[in-house]
Amino acid sequence: MSRFWSPVVHTLSPYVPGEQPKQDGVIKLNTNENPYPPSPRVAEAIASAMSRLRLYPDPRASLLREAIASRYGVAPDEVFVGNGSDEVLAHTFQALLKHDAPLLFPDVTYSFFPVWSELYGVSCEAVPLDAAMRLQLADYRRPCSAILLPNPNAPTGIALPRAAIEQLLAEHPEQLVVIDEAYVDFGAESAVPLVARHDNLLVVQTLSKSRALAGLRVGFAIGKRPLIEALDRVKDSFNSYPLDRLAIAGAVAALEDNAWFAETCKRIIASRETLTHALSGLGFEVLPSLANFVFARHPRRGGAELAAALRERGVLVRHFGRPRIKDFLRITVGTEDQCSRLVGVLRSLL
Ligand code: PMP
Repeated sequence: MSRFWSPVVHTLSPYVPGEQPKQDGVIKLNTNENPYPPSPRVAEAIASAMSRLRLYPDPRASLLREAIASRYGVAPDEVFVGNGSDEVLAHTFQALLKHDAPLLFPDVTYSFFPVWSELYGVSCEAVPLDAAMRLQLADYRRPCSAILLPNPNAPTGIALPRAAIEQLLAEHPEQLVVIDEAYVDFGAESAVPLVARHDNLLVVQTLSKSRALAGLRVGFAIGKRPLIEALDRVKDSFNSYPLDRLAIAGAVAALEDNAWFAETCKRIIASRETLTHALSGLGFEVLPSLANFVFARHPRRGGAELAAALRERGVLVRHFGRPRIKDFLRITVGTEDQCSRLVGVLRSLL
C-alpha cells in the first residue's frame, strides 16, 4: 500500500496466471500451452524481420489482419489484433461491454472476466452452470446488456455446438454476444461463420494455444466493422503498437502453415482421448472436453492435495481453490509421453 496509489488500485484483485517454473525437467501441464513447438516458418520469419527493428511496426498490423481475414473468409476491416487475446478481451470490456444493464458470463469460467469487470467498472452477473457444469441457454434469458462465453468453456472444456450459439444470438438481437474461442481449434465448432449474419457477434481467438505461440502474444477478434472500430478506438487511445514487428511476422508465418497446425492439433486431440480414458480408469470423473486440457476430479482425493502431491513429483497441473471446482484439477494435454508420465505418477499416489 502506498499513499501514491490511485484509489482504484486499492480494490483490485488481479488475475493470477499459472506458475512458470524456473527449473527444467518439470512436466508442465498447468497453463494450457501447446506441447509442440510452433511451425519452423515462424523462426525464419522472425529472423528476417530482425533487420528492421530500428523502425516502428505497422500500427494497424495490416499484413496480419489480411492473413487472418483470408484464413477465416472475412474482410481485413472485420479483424482486430492485440497483444494476446487477453488484451483483445480487455479492450472489449472497455469498448463494448460497459453499459447500465449487466454483462452475463458463467459462474465457472475464465477467471480474468471478473477482474476486467472490476478494472473497467463493468456491471456483471455470474450465471450458474448446471450441476453437470453445462451451460443452459435458458438461464441467459434475463435482462442484460451483453453475454460473454468462452467456447469451449474454461476450465471445464465443455463446448456448445454452433447451432446453440446461433440460437443465443437470435434470442438476444439487442445484446452483444462475445465468444472467446481460445480453445476452439481442438475440436469445437467456431462461431466465425455466423459473423456475416449477426452484427451482435464478436469472436475472439488466440495464437497462444493451437498455433503454439503463447510466448509471442498474439490474439484477434472477428466481428462486423462497427465492433472493430470500437476496439480500434480504444487501442489507439492506449498503445499505437501493441504488436511488435517480430510478433506480426511470426504470426503471419504461423497462419500460413496450415499443415503444421492441423497435424499438431490432431496429435493433441488424440492425446486428450487417451488421457481421458486413462484418468477414468484411475477413478476420475473427467468432463467431456473439446479443449487442449481436461477438467477432472477424484471421488476420494481433494484437488489441492493432489495438485500439491503432483508438484512434489515434478508435475504441474492447475488447481483453483474456488467454490464448485475446488475438487477438480485442470490438466493440460501434453505430449503422449508427458501424459503417460502424469498417469504413472497419479497411479502411484492413489
Ligand atoms: N481466454 C481463455 C479462456 C484463456 O484460458 C486464455 C489463456 N489464459 C486466454 C483467453 C488468453 O490467452 P492469450 O492472452 O495467451 O491469447
